Amino acid sequence: MAPNVLTIAGTDPSGGAGVQADLKAFSANGAYGMSVITALVAQTTTGVSRVQEVPPDFITDQLVTLLDDVRVDAVKIGMLANAEVIRAVTAVLERYCPPFVVLDPVMVAKSGDRLLAPEAVGALRDELLPRVDLITPNLPEAADLLGEGEIASPDQMPAQAERLAALGAKQVLLKGGHLSGESSVDLLHGDGVSEFLSTERVVTTNDHGTGCTLSAAIAALRPQRADWLEAVCEAKQYLTDALRASERLDVGRGHGPVHH
Ligand code: PLP
Repeated sequence: MAPNVLTIAGTDPSGGAGVQADLKAFSANGAYGMSVITALVAQTTTGVSRVQEVPPDFITDQLVTLLDDVRVDAVKIGMLANAEVIRAVTAVLERYCPPFVVLDPVMVAKSGDRLLAPEAVGALRDELLPRVDLITPNLPEAADLLGEGEIASPDQMPAQAERLAALGAKQVLLKGGHLSGESSVDLLHGDGVSEFLSTERVVTTNDHGTGCTLSAAIAALRPQRADWLEAVCEAKQYLTDALRASERLDVGRGHGPVHH
């Protein structure tokens, strides 16, 4: 039976990031995909021009309507826009306790546009983060969550993952993609174990929505795999293949999408 996997996130009309990317990654990784939209984002490969936030009570209604009917086997959470939306999503998670909740703490798009209000970082860290199973911050997001001024170097990543775990997430995937080097090295930390996971770095400008794709693939795979390590390794390979396949796409003039 295919797992039912839900994304709670914002949109990307160009199909490279957000809900659209998540649904493609769910399908490609053997899951049945569902979505609750938190924000309509006027964006493409070159950046964001406008964000229309969905009223928090309507996000609650979307979630409750869905969860009252459908068994949800895993959840991926992406763009949440503001503190009220974070609180609405947290309350629903507390009520329904779905298994395997993955939080991609989306804050700023690669184009530099903010996707989370700066004053909402505290709510994300203090209210939502302790209720998820895995968080997938990149190094700038990790620094932001911890109130640290600079991004960590590779040798500082284990201690930083430990500080993130102390905020309450059971598992931390600290993504080292912002570091230079021939490979893309992430650190999976949880259950007292820290493991560096390395894949070949694909050099391409088609990297829009890579974080969305990775976290969605993890959520799709986790109910189908024995543990987080297995799901994360396979999702990382999936993203590497999708980055490589992006050369077959001609979408937009900016940072193009990966190919699922
Ligand atoms: N747009 C939406 C709706 C997202 O959820 C995300 C997620 O990170 C992004 C854009 C960011 O895309 P990127 O930073 O890969 O350009």
